[in-house]
Amino acid sequence: MDTTTPNPRTADSPEVKRYNRIQRWLSLSDTLIGFALLVVLLVTGWTGKLRDWSYLGARQHYFFAVFLYVLMFSIIAKALNSPLDFFGFRLEHRYHLSNQKLRSWLWDECKGWLLSVVLGTIMVELVYAIIRVAPQRWWIIAWAVFIGLFLLMAQLAPVVLMPIFYKFEPLANDSLRERLTRLGERAGTRVRGVYEWKLSEKSNKANAALTGLGSTRRIILADTLLQHYSDDEIEAVLAHELGHHVHKHILKAILTQVAVTFFGFWLINLVLRFVLAKEWFPALDPRLYDFANLPLIVLVATVLGIALMPAMNAISRHHERQADRYAWENTPAIGPFVTAMQKLAEQNLAEREPAKWIEFLFHSHPSIGKRVAAAEDWASKHRVEQPV
Ligand SMILES: [Zn+2]
Repeated sequence: MDTTTPNPRTADSPEVKRYNRIQRWLSLSDTLIGFALLVVLLVTGWTGKLRDWSYLGARQHYFFAVFLYVLMFSIIAKALNSPLDFFGFRLEHRYHLSNQKLRSWLWDECKGWLLSVVLGTIMVELVYAIIRVAPQRWWIIAWAVFIGLFLLMAQLAPVVLMPIFYKFEPLANDSLRERLTRLGERAGTRVRGVYEWKLSEKSNKANAALTGLGSTRRIILADTLLQHYSDDEIEAVLAHELGHHVHKHILKAILTQVAVTFFGFWLINLVLRFVLAKEWFPALDPRLYDFANLPLIVLVATVLGIALMPAMNAISRHHERQADRYAWENTPAIGPFVTAMQKLAEQNLAEREPAKWIEFLFHSHPSIGKRVAAAEDWASKHRVEQPV
């Protein structure tokens, strides 16, 4: 094929490009606002004021004061980010990707915020309790506790956390369930549950995922996908998700988290001690358990997260390529995989051919253009049948 002319099957429309560009600006602005809040709290010393008010409100009770601090911090952060969140809600409507009513969206925002306050409070209370008990080795203990909570959340996600926002039902389609059983038997793995994810109440986008740990491990398929895709196409998607399971991608992602957060807590301890010793921020007490230093902890974690994003995305894209290959090898033809990909791109307004640097930095999945090209390339080497 002549590569100088755009391929009509993969070229992105100006609308798709615009939508994705706005989405990127939105998440960049979101990050920058969060970043600015942390820096301002530290530089102006307002974090010290928040801490003093917390002690006052808690009548000098340390753990209650920590809670009040987290609560005030969450309220300020949410207030600053709400205009962008609302813009994001409107954006999805403008591009006909969402059919969620304002009330339902506001309710989701409330639930999401409450959940973040609850989980944030638990983690922050634990961290400062550990700092008080073991100021020298706090970061190793906090890391171990964090990993424990992380595993618990990974297990609870599909049965407790996700149902807060969406309904799930066991997949009712018998022919699809049979196909999955056959796929699982061929893979020599126990076939796990498949659930229909009622996404259509809120979104017009389609999605599928492998979630959960141990007994809660399951494949979830959006009803928006089940409604508009042929059984062959859904089988290709199921095979891809099963590929994640067979290749143990969730375990590998968790092990990556274990390593990254170990380094993260070590780094936080180092930076915290360095900054406190240098007295860069006069509002902070030199003692580690002064929770006014929380913005500094979050700042280090945020910077580390951003710095590692390209590497984490590269690992994820590698996993996606493995799952794709698994799907091609374990379904009768790659045609349905290719058409499913094309439909997904169209339905979700995904860029089929994003700029290389954008894919490298931000994308957890290879572009649809690359996935389709790889599938056709694989089929030309391994199959006699012609792809669609
Ligand atoms: Zn995947």
